Amino acid sequence: MNDSLKDLKEAITKNIIREWYWYKVCEGCESIVDASDATCPICRAYRFDGSKKRVIAHAFNVYDRFQELIDSDPGQWECSG
Ligand SMILES: [Zn+2]
Repeated sequence: MNDSLKDLKEAITKNIIREWYWYKVCEGCESIVDASDATCPICRAYRFDGSKKRVIAHAFNVYDRFQELIDSDPGQWECSG
């Protein structure tokens, strides 16, 4: 695996875990979004769970999903954020 992608993945995951209060989990699509977003930029839902437990649990899910994205389409995740 590309080391820079792995480093980026770890950096994002660690950043979410360290600064979980900047994020919230969309109840519609279960994405981690910015805490300041009024609606989900992905599915337009407006219900979120901003609890530390939920956000950190999802940070680990994101970590796993990054690997799937990198394996399936290297360009997909680069454009999403
Ligand atoms: Zn959503």
